[in-house]
Amino acid sequence: ATANIGVVGLAVMGSNLARNLASREGNTVAVFNRSRAKTDDLVAEHPEAGFVPSFSYEEFAASLQKPRTAIIMVKAGAGTDAVIDELVRVFEPGDIIVDGGNALFTDTIRREKAVRETGINFVGMGVSGGEEGALHGPSLMPGGSDESWVTLGPILRTIAAVAEGEPCVTHIGHDGAGHFVKMVHNGIEYADMQLIAEAYDLIRRGTGKSPAEIADVFAEWNHGELESYLIEITAEVLRQVDAETGKPLVDVIVDQAGAKGTGAWTVQTALDLGVPVSGIAEATFARSLSSHPEQREVSGSLPGPLESLTVDDADAFIEDVRLALFASKIVAYSQGFDEIRAGAAQYGWDIDLGAVSKIWRAGCIIRAQFLNRIADAYAQTPDLAVLLTAPYFVEALERAQGSWRRIVATAATGGIPSPAFSSSLAYYDGLRAERLPAALIQGQRDFFGAHTYKRIDRPGTFHTLWSADRTEVEAEDTH
Ligand code: NDP
Repeated sequence: ATANIGVVGLAVMGSNLARNLASREGNTVAVFNRSRAKTDDLVAEHPEAGFVPSFSYEEFAASLQKPRTAIIMVKAGAGTDAVIDELVRVFEPGDIIVDGGNALFTDTIRREKAVRETGINFVGMGVSGGEEGALHGPSLMPGGSDESWVTLGPILRTIAAVAEGEPCVTHIGHDGAGHFVKMVHNGIEYADMQLIAEAYDLIRRGTGKSPAEIADVFAEWNHGELESYLIEITAEVLRQVDAETGKPLVDVIVDQAGAKGTGAWTVQTALDLGVPVSGIAEATFARSLSSHPEQREVSGSLPGPLESLTVDDADAFIEDVRLALFASKIVAYSQGFDEIRAGAAQYGWDIDLGAVSKIWRAGCIIRAQFLNRIADAYAQTPDLAVLLTAPYFVEALERAQGSWRRIVATAATGGIPSPAFSSSLAYYDGLRAERLPAALIQGQRDFFGAHTYKRIDRPGTFHTLWSADRTEVEAEDTH
């Protein structure tokens, strides 16, 4: 046994992660893939890595020092279960199996429980940053037991991205915690991308600027409080010219957004937990709406506003859009962190939200300066109930809200869809409201279903005898 770490699954993610591991001092990396060709190719193309290849699970286990540690990077779902079964067969108690695929956290909880019964440790680990991240430094979100973290932590710290001197990896919590946090990361990514897309659309339709000119706007924004990887690549995409037609590439790309499902998982889970992640939900639904051409065939037959959007002062308008984007982004992140808090409470994970924001500062798709402000907020108040109530964000929202309201109003009167901007503002105003019309909903629920209500002026649970004399009676609390 010569290797201290192994990788199973040598498609693009697995082979890049294996190369990253092999490039770090002290690591010898065992590699295995179901079909032989990928292993042969990787070993032949990267002799410098000193990989220890194997062609059966028995050989793979024999090539690893104890406790054996293997990272699985295969197609999520049945492929992961098949590989886990094989590794459990050839590994021993105390060994560590890490699933770095995009597993649903409830699958990870199930797998961890089953594998733990054999005495083997199972770690579900979120990996963010795509192919490049896997090769040069991803953001890593491992769950699993404290025992496995002792062995795994030092290895993962060597391959993770580095932000301000700190590796972008932390032990998130037990069993499915890592994959849960990765899921919410992706949900926030959906929201951030949708907000940026709405900002681009408003500037383009409002000012008539070309994609290349709007690329300059985004490049400039990337020097300020919006500085982030997504803003940076937005400028690159907008600047790209199609070689074939000479048009901006963005005008040649079909306007139907794809999705691999993690945004939907974030929203489904939030619905189960009762957490309002409206920005993430609108972003997910916006992709769905875009990708239904048969429904969008009605375009042109549905009446819109009589006058199209006109903007007198382009610079002022663009600054309003920037601030609306910043405010909506604060809401999206706040909602995502709320979901993590709620998930931690539901599943019994002790998640350090400040540490989560720090490991997202590099390596992953939502990496941004802004995450330092989130880390600061949790450092000041670790049990902050709503992230956007931290002083820095309150100040930013105060500064942005005039612009935010103008932009949402302008979009509505101009007939420009801005689901993420407007739902974020509605959420913010919902939080602010002293009284919500939820009181009326409780009245309606009591009317048709005797669901009861509480009163503002005394304790207890009440029901109005709606179909009798409409007097109020004390009732059992049934909600
Ligand atoms: P794919 O998701 O395309 O999976 C291909 C790999 O899975 C191959 O090595 C394949 O082996 C193996 N595989 C599939 N089914 C089985 C099985 N039943 N038994 C054994 N091996 C099996 O590869 P990627 O590299 O794109 O992704 C790997 C994982 O990383 C996925 O879970 C993905 O969701 C996740 N991920 C991907 C990111 C990305 O940006 N691409 C980012 C973060 C995570 P064979 O060669 O024999 O077919």
